[in-house]
Amino acid sequence: MKKDDQALAQARIELAAALRWAARQGFQSGVCNHFSVAVPGRPDLMLINPEGHFWAEARASDMVVAAHDGTLHDADGRTVETTAFCIHAPIHRLLPHAVAVLHTHMHHATAICMRKGGEVSPSYLSAMSFYQRIAYDRGFDGPALTPAEGERLARLLGDDFILMMECHGPLVVGASIGEALLRLLYLEDTCRMQILAEAGGHELQRIPSQMMASIPRDVPRFKAYAKGFIAAVVRTLSREEPDFLG
Ligand SMILES: [Zn+2]
Repeated sequence: MKKDDQALAQARIELAAALRWAARQGFQSGVCNHFSVAVPGRPDLMLINPEGHFWAEARASDMVVAAHDGTLHDADGRTVETTAFCIHAPIHRLLPHAVAVLHTHMHHATAICMRKGGEVSPSYLSAMSFYQRIAYDRGFDGPALTPAEGERLARLLGDDFILMMECHGPLVVGASIGEALLRLLYLEDTCRMQILAEAGGHELQRIPSQMMASIPRDVPRFKAYAKGFIAAVVRTLSREEPDFLG
């Protein structure tokens, strides 16, 4: 197998695994929302989950290769929902650092997006690496049904890792599926703890911004941890739900 083919096969496995892992956390709503990753060696193409499937039934071979204009490659009868080309494709096209793009309506992060002026409070040690890399969309404009909306979201996201979309939900990007998935889990944990800590009207402690600025932007330890994390996810699912490899 050629190197790019091997990398694509691994991306299929990791994307299907990420979807199943997110399903275990209760992050899916209906059969909606997408996880996507740039095809290795072909940044003009993305690998994405097909329309009408639960994440819990994702299989490596079901992931669809699609061009940013909506053209599908070897889809074998599978389709991809329109909003994937209105949110994910423009972000892949305009932001090369967004190798993996994950969007969910996971409950606690979405609850923060629903608050007027909602903000992820910089109050939790384990999330210090991304507090200053969160962008906010304060201009909700209905469902994303045109690529122009995705282009607007890409401009808002810029070189940040997380976009909190008002009245909608979060979008998380990473340099790999493992990095994006780990960040997604941390974000939901952080928002859940924030909501718990604020219960009863308590004011949160805030980590000083100069202390957060001392955290390097590209943490090698996070990259190594994310690599180990996605390997553990794949290993666990290979044992407990081996059909995802099919
Ligand atoms: Zn959505």
